[in-house]
Order: sequence, then structure tokens, then C-alpha cells
Amino acid sequence: MTAALPTDPGFALRHLLARVQFEDRGYSSPCWVWHGPRNHHGYGRTCVPGLGKNVRIHRATYQLFVGPIPSGLEIDHLCRVRECCNPSHLEAVTRLENMRRAAALLVPATHCARGHEFTPENTYRNSSGGRGCRHCLKEWRKRRRARNNGGGGCPSKADAPVQAMSLTHDSAASTR
Ligand SMILES: [Zn+2]
Ligand SMILES: [Zn+2]
Repeated sequence: MTAALPTDPGFALRHLLARVQFEDRGYSSPCWVWHGPRNHHGYGRTCVPGLGKNVRIHRATYQLFVGPIPSGLEIDHLCRVRECCNPSHLEAVTRLENMRRAAALLVPATHCARGHEFTPENTYRNSSGGRGCRHCLKEWRKRRRARNNGGGGCPSKADAPVQAMSLTHDSAASTR
């Protein structure tokens, strides 16, 4: 397997994003939810021009937006949505760390990833059956309104890498 970038990242990206929808799944920013084929583990898979056949989409977007995946590391979903490929929700971690985080999930969290308490008033069920934080949802809607401000509501490619830069670190830190 190669970690090299595709020769035409723009083309690979368009191919991927054509089957991605931006959905709020209760994380601090919307998930890029893949609506194409998935493997039996629930991870999206597709053929990405330049990256290979049958690549996992979250590995593909990580490589396209963040960079090569260091050898020996796995890509962890900070949002816990397997079909999500938002690069700001992805982090390259060791297998051990990935397993440690998965184990921590078995204990129901009392607070969301941003530190708001899951009180009955602040909790809702999202479309995938997971728990969502109303406070974060409200924040996100506010940001979305500000961003769309007259636009067509279509997330622009341009703001994605910026999100990736600004959110990766604080959201990663709060899971530790
Ligand atoms: Zn996500
Ligand atoms: Zn929250």
C-alpha cells in the first residue's frame, strides 16, 4: 500500500465529495457522511483515482487534506461516526490508543466532546440513534447561518481545510 498523494488531488476529491453529505451527528462540527458503498464494518469504501481501488474513504480524505498516514498508525474517528470522512474529525493514532478510546466509549460519557453536561434538557437523539448535545447543535446552527448568509447552503471546499486546522487539536485534547 502506498501513502503517496494522487497525481490529481482535485479530481480525487470531487469524486469523493460527490457522495458525501454534510450532516450534524452531534459532534462539534458536521460530519461528512458517506452515502456510497460500505464494507461490513460500516466504513465507506470506494475506488479513488490516484489512491487505489477499494480504499477506505476516511483514509482517502485524511491523505488528501492532512497528508500521508504515518506507517503503523490507524485513523481514529473523533466523532465516532464510521461513515464520516471529515478530515477535522480524523486523527492518526496507534492501534493501542485507538483501542483505548474504543474501550472508554463503553462507559457512557457525562459530557459532550466540548465539555457540556448531558442533562436531559441538553440531550437529544440524533438520526443515527446517538446522543447529541443541544448546546453544540445550537452553536453549529449559528455558525452555519453565518456561513451560509445568502449562499446556497453548499459547503465550499475552501472552508474544509481551515476547519481541519482549527478543530483537530482542541477536539482531540478534550477526548483525553
Ligand atoms: Zn465526523
Ligand atoms: Zn456540547
